[in-house]
Amino acid sequence: MNAPAKIYYFDNNATTRVAPEVVDAMVPFLRDFWGNPSSAYSFGAQVHTHVEQAREQVAALIHSDPKEVTFTSCGTESNNSAIHSALVTTGKRHVVTTAVEHSANINFGEFLQKRGYEVTYLPVESDGSLDLHRLEQAIRPDTAIVSVMWANNETGVIFPIEEVAALCRSKGVLCHTDAVQTPGKLKIDVQQLGVDFLSLSAHKLHAPKGIGLLYVKRRTKFSPYVIGGHQERGRRGGTESVANIVGFGRAAVLAMDSLSEENSRVRALRDRLENHILSHIPNTVRNGAKEPRLPNTANVAFDFVEAEAVLMLLDQVGICASSGSACTTGSLDPSHVLTAMGVNPMRARGSVRFSLGIYNTDEEVDYVLKHLPPIIQKLRDISPLNPAHPDNDAYDTAGARAKHEQDLAIAKAEEVVAA
Ligand code: PLP
Repeated sequence: MNAPAKIYYFDNNATTRVAPEVVDAMVPFLRDFWGNPSSAYSFGAQVHTHVEQAREQVAALIHSDPKEVTFTSCGTESNNSAIHSALVTTGKRHVVTTAVEHSANINFGEFLQKRGYEVTYLPVESDGSLDLHRLEQAIRPDTAIVSVMWANNETGVIFPIEEVAALCRSKGVLCHTDAVQTPGKLKIDVQQLGVDFLSLSAHKLHAPKGIGLLYVKRRTKFSPYVIGGHQERGRRGGTESVANIVGFGRAAVLAMDSLSEENSRVRALRDRLENHILSHIPNTVRNGAKEPRLPNTANVAFDFVEAEAVLMLLDQVGICASSGSACTTGSLDPSHVLTAMGVNPMRARGSVRFSLGIYNTDEEVDYVLKHLPPIIQKLRDISPLNPAHPDNDAYDTAGARAKHEQDLAIAKAEEVVAA
C-alpha cells in the first residue's frame, strides 16, 4: 500500500496519527522481543518488564497506582467491563448513564435492557450540559453504577465528573467515567476525580488501535468481563498485546508533555477555525456549550446542507472531518448526541465536527478556511432545503428547542411526582 497523498486531518476525536516516537518504541517488540510475558524463561520475563514499565507510564498519566491499571483491547471493552463488573459484584440491576454517551455505552445499555436490566439514560440540556439534580433523582437503591462520560466525543462538552463522583459516593453507588477523549487535553487525576472506574483508549492519544485501559480503584470489587488466563492479575484473560502496550506507555508520556500545547496552540487553532466559520459563513451555529469544552473540538451546524455532502467535497480536497462519531458513520439517523440536545433534525444532519490535534498547523487551518466556504455555497445553491423554497419549515429550530424545553419540563415534573 502506498502512503496516502497529503491529507488535512481534522478528525482527531475519531483516531489519531501514531506518533513516530511510539512506532519506534513498539518495533523491537514486534521484531525481536516477541516472547510471551507470562513465560518463565528470561526471553519472556524481559518482555514482562516492559509491560510493567508501560503500566507505570499510563498510571502516571492518570495519577493512579500501576496496580489499579488493567490493560484491555479498547475503550469499548473498558466501558463494558466496568458496567458488567458493577452489576455482577453488587447484584443490583439498574444502571444510570446519559443519552449522549458513545455507542460503547448506549448499545451496551440496550443489550442489558433486553436481558431484564434497567437503564436510565439521563437527558441533557440544549447546550449539552448535565443537570446534576436530575442525576441525583435518577439514583435508586437498586442502582449498581453511574457511568457518565467526562468529555463528549462529538461536541467536546465536559461534564463535572468530580461532582458526579461525589454524588455517587454520598449515595453509596459505584461511579465510572469514560475519559477516552481527555488524555493530553485535560489533566487526569483519578484521586481528585474520585471515580471507581475510568476508561481510556490508546488510539486517541497517538498510540495504536486495539489497546485500552480500565482503572479500577484499589479495594473495588471486580469481576472480569474477558474470562480466561490469569493475566492482568486475574482481571482480564488473554495474552497481553505487548507492542501495543509498550506504545501506549510511550504515548502516555507524550500526552503529559503535550497538555500545555493542546491547551494553548491547539486551542487557538480551533478557536480561529470556529470563529472564522461562524463569522464568515452565514447560517452557521456552534453545537454545544462554548465552555467547558475540550480545547480541540468544534462542532458546527451548516443550515440547508447535508453534512455527508460537505464531507464528500472536503474529502475531494484532502480534508478529513466527520459528522459525529466514526462508530455511527453510515447511519442515516441524525446524531443521537445532537438529537438529545434538542437540535432540530435538519440542523443535526448538517453538522460537521472538526477535531484538531498537536500535528495540525496554521497553514492547515488556512487551507480549510479557503476550501470550506465555496463548498458550503455550492451545496446551498443546489439545496432543496434552501429557504428560497418559501414553504420550507424544516428549520423550525425555535420550535425544536421549545419542544426540547417542554420535554425536559415534563421529565422534571414526573421526577417530582415520583420523588
Ligand atoms: N468512548 C468515547 C467517548 C469515544 O470517543 C470512543 C471512540 O470513539 C470510545 C469510547 C470507544 O473507544 P474504542 O474505539 O477504543 O473502542
